[in-house]
Amino acid sequence: MSYEQLPKKIDPIKFVTLETSLSGTINLEDMTRLSACIEGGDPLVSADLKFYRSRQGFRIIEGSCRAQVNLLCQRCLEPTAVPLEAKIALVIVSDDERAKKLPKQYDALILQETPISLAEMVEEELLLCLPSVPRHSDEQCNASMSDYEDSEAVEVTKPNPFDVLSTLKKE
Ligand SMILES: [Zn+2]
Repeated sequence: MSYEQLPKKIDPIKFVTLETSLSGTINLEDMTRLSACIEGGDPLVSADLKFYRSRQGFRIIEGSCRAQVNLLCQRCLEPTAVPLEAKIALVIVSDDERAKKLPKQYDALILQETPISLAEMVEEELLLCLPSVPRHSDEQCNASMSDYEDSEAVEVTKPNPFDVLSTLKKE
């Protein structure tokens, strides 16, 4: 598998005609909507895509993409690295009406203009597989070590400045 940078803009209709296969990386920073939902991550997203026309005549984009992103653990609010992997099964259509008639296993890519941003197309699929409640595993989570009780105990045992004052008065 090669890890070359994939083109930023693609003409998916042309790729279907040419039966193109793409395998490589996309910059995470080009995925602005995904970047807004995460605490950074691996700067490169990898994707493998095949463009072809199915026997039923659909223009298909099929493959997968993988990213490694940091999300805030909802227990301890520290970042946790989460691998994202999305399957891609798209049919290129020209409007909503056609999109509604697709077989269930496919999502629609409604194409209004070409070229399109490859990063945005892949980003859409990654957004769908973001976990709604990201969490560390129990061993890795900072909240699992009953920190709270310990820190409270420390607070209580700190010397009270008024105690010192009352001692001075006595003397
Ligand atoms: Zn955690």
